[in-house]
Amino acid sequence: MPGVGLDRTMTRCIFCKDSLGQFTTREHILPESLGGGDWAVLPNGLCCDACQNRFGSEIEQQALGDYPLSFFRVFLGIPTKKVKAPWFNSWEGKIRASLQPGAFGFDPVLSFEKATVDGSKTQIRLIAHPLKPDMVCRFLLKMGIEVFAANVPNDVFRVKFDAARYYALTGDKTVLWWYLQHERMDEAFHFMIRGVSEHEWSQNVSLEVIELEAEQEMFHLSLLYLDLFVPLTTGVQPQMGGLEEPKFRLFRV
Ligand SMILES: [Zn+2]
Repeated sequence: MPGVGLDRTMTRCIFCKDSLGQFTTREHILPESLGGGDWAVLPNGLCCDACQNRFGSEIEQQALGDYPLSFFRVFLGIPTKKVKAPWFNSWEGKIRASLQPGAFGFDPVLSFEKATVDGSKTQIRLIAHPLKPDMVCRFLLKMGIEVFAANVPNDVFRVKFDAARYYALTGDKTVLWWYLQHERMDEAFHFMIRGVSEHEWSQNVSLEVIELEAEQEMFHLSLLYLDLFVPLTTGVQPQMGGLEEPKFRLFRV
């Protein structure tokens, strides 16, 4: 009967592939706490509330609190969703953004405070390594699937993306995944000291899906001094020839 009921052809979740759930929340492809604005909102009807919730509460939090995204948020002073200064924990204490270019806050743990007073410690060491690379990888896969969906909504349901969407959502995998990180530290220091202008931001933050050979797809997230690449289809092998550590780092999960 025309005009009766909801048009279910318009809503289908790109992660669980179901049409029956609720589709009421706004999903940011790039989270607000990484600087994603209205330009980064996924079109309605593509991510159900249950999946959105799961990403928000289980995966995004952990990925955003882990290296390299924690460093990016704190040292560039990108506020959290609740407009608080971001922070992360190190062994020596809590590192806080001050929201002033070139300045950071530090709340030492008691043992470190004592060690600095007696002179046995004079430096803070920050470990530039993810504690949970699987969460970083799943978070990148989530963004990649969403970017593809925003551009080609019908093709995102193809079987070739099933392994990626399933691993992103559930953490269960049948193949090994990986992501490649490219970090330009000289540029990072430049932005940390000087701050980031609106213009620099709009010119140097991007999310794109790159089509490779033989129906393979790769997601590329570019955040000023930091590039992250993750394959969205299985069978893509990392090409590390000529890419030197630590500028380029490969994480297998
Ligand atoms: Zn869903």
